[in-house]
Amino acid sequence: MSDVSGRVSELRRTLEKYSHEYYVLDQPTVPDAEYDRLLRELEALEAANPELITPDSPTQRVGGAPLPQFESVQHEVPMLSLGNAFAEQEVEEFDQRIRQRLDRDEPVSYVAEPKLDGLALSLLYRDGQLVRAATRGDGSSGENVTLNARTIRAIPLRLRGEVPPLVEVRGEVYISKADFERYNKSADATGGKRFVNPRNAAAGSLRQLDPRLTAQRPLSFFAYAGAQLSDSELPATHGEFLQQLREWGLPVSPEHRVVEGPQGCLEYYADIGKKRDDLAYEIDGVVYKVNEYVLQRDLGFVSRAPRWALAHKFPAQEELTTVEAIEVQIGRTGAVTPVARLEPVFVGGVTVTNATLHNEDEVKRKDVRAGDTVVVRRAGDVIPEVVSAVVERRPADSTPFVMPTHCPLCGSPIVRREGEAVSRCTGGMICPAQVRGGLIHFVSRQAMDIEGLGTQVIDQLVTAGLVETPADIFLLSADQLVELERLGEKSAANLVAAIETSKQTELGRLLFGLGIRDVGHATARTLASYFGSLDALLGASVEDFEQVPDVGPVVAASLAAYFSDPGNRELLAALRAAGVTWPEHEPQTGPAEGPLTGRTFVLTGTLSSMPRSEARAALEALGAKVSGSVSKKTSGVIAGDKAGSKLTKAQDLGVPVLDEDAMAVLLAGDLSPIEKGD
Ligand code: NAD
Repeated sequence: MSDVSGRVSELRRTLEKYSHEYYVLDQPTVPDAEYDRLLRELEALEAANPELITPDSPTQRVGGAPLPQFESVQHEVPMLSLGNAFAEQEVEEFDQRIRQRLDRDEPVSYVAEPKLDGLALSLLYRDGQLVRAATRGDGSSGENVTLNARTIRAIPLRLRGEVPPLVEVRGEVYISKADFERYNKSADATGGKRFVNPRNAAAGSLRQLDPRLTAQRPLSFFAYAGAQLSDSELPATHGEFLQQLREWGLPVSPEHRVVEGPQGCLEYYADIGKKRDDLAYEIDGVVYKVNEYVLQRDLGFVSRAPRWALAHKFPAQEELTTVEAIEVQIGRTGAVTPVARLEPVFVGGVTVTNATLHNEDEVKRKDVRAGDTVVVRRAGDVIPEVVSAVVERRPADSTPFVMPTHCPLCGSPIVRREGEAVSRCTGGMICPAQVRGGLIHFVSRQAMDIEGLGTQVIDQLVTAGLVETPADIFLLSADQLVELERLGEKSAANLVAAIETSKQTELGRLLFGLGIRDVGHATARTLASYFGSLDALLGASVEDFEQVPDVGPVVAASLAAYFSDPGNRELLAALRAAGVTWPEHEPQTGPAEGPLTGRTFVLTGTLSSMPRSEARAALEALGAKVSGSVSKKTSGVIAGDKAGSKLTKAQDLGVPVLDEDAMAVLLAGDLSPIEKGD
């Protein structure tokens, strides 16, 4: 018995601490799933030992104490929590309990609504005017946040149409997913405080002592209930009341629906579950409410929740687990990504064993360490990430993560260029991770599309020394492949056939497959159709690349560096020699011949006589090249209004600077504006 009462007190202490962090500080340290688990354990212990129940147990109470800094508001009608369910079975039981209590055989109709993940707000309207807004607080008294609520645009200051003399409207203040991300990004940039999730962001933003701060936060509101209306003024059903709220000018979630019986509830749950990731705001489940108000009144309340409503939660998207180690992964471009190896944990519908930590700064900011207990999040199809570490559970001997100075695979130095977040292994093609990543990319769907050549086969080919460069793939024989583990004769023959087929490719696919820095498949396709042949690409200069639509100076530099590198030229020759072919054509737009042939111009600032694209076309029609960057070789910089660094650079290098009048002279075929300084 003493064991049980000891555990009960321990659970209460822990739950009270978590509630304080969550409700009062808006900074939870553990995921909801952990809180819910402990609460359920306490409920079960209290149910088995009712003599241990105390009125102040977390199982009997709502929310957290209101902050003393706010004026306190006594709720005329308590603001309660909701009973919750995770399994379908519990929804059926909820409906059975209701029908038993009401002594009713026919199905009950419910209003099903999304359960918004924000915080509850009570709005009091007297003669249609907003006179008071209050948080839920501990359910009986909340915080007066009227001035803050008045800054939320979605909350009408005056209701429309015929409104009873006194109405209390309740709803949820929330922040959209996109605004939450934006808020945290800007907090990172300015060194400000981040919020761990949209719910806490909404709560922290509403509960500001200075309403001007609340006004700067993108808060929104959905109304979902009313109170303090005399019977005669209340519509007969909750569904109608939601309609009434809308007519008064309050925003109501468009997702709510009237459904029949538990089956209707479960269908709604499944439908909203599918939509969840596409909704602009976070929801953590759905709420079912008995539709008829008479029935709601008959059912009444238990200590902390109404009997006529149920929150049916979605599986948790955040869970606790421990970090076994932090390792680094090297991508095909050498990018070093710290990854947390986790004790397997079921979260967001899958078992997660690894979670990305993005980069060095991110690990530092979150201070995640090997041995830590961490909150892991997996929402939708997004890759799992470590949200935060639970510092109080940290082992005493833990040490902060340090980015390795050398690549664990090839031993080459790892460097991080100034101003960049990413650290990179400098090993290039001597780094097996980069070689492997490069090969996987080369054979991928949008590149050479070699069916049957998956990651595992590539790993074996590299380990066996059969493949070092992409060109080696085309020299593989069925005999060699059959030697590989788990590759039968049939698969080996199929793979050889797939490799053979892939030899007839397109230049765009090949270019994409090469994995040139900053060249995605769209750019690769554009390059292929612009240059038409590999030889044209091999012969192109930075300036030539800059002529290509959508290719800026950075990409042009990557391209020029790639095609001038002897190792890369060798690879391309080897690919050709191995029989890789593609249709070629003449370059799409060769520079025109004219008075400006051999001259390069740079356009900068805003031109008043014509758009820059037109000026560019006009110059090109006369044989000129138009480049995005100024060098000594630039024949002239044409500067419009608000010209910036390119103008300064031209002046520094002594490159002629032309105004629009001078450009007009040039376009008439007269070279005098650029010959003056020659
Ligand atoms: P709840 O959030 O489960 O349900 C009640 C609340 O739901 C209402 O107050 C209202 O704000 C909201 N709601 C959203 N949509 C609604 C709708 N359509 N109709 C009616 N209400 C709607 O209960 P709770 O008592 O506010 O809080 C419990 C939750 O807080 C649990 O999920 C728990 O895990 C979490 N919590 C977490 C920690 C932590 O440390 N992580 C601590 C305490 C509580």
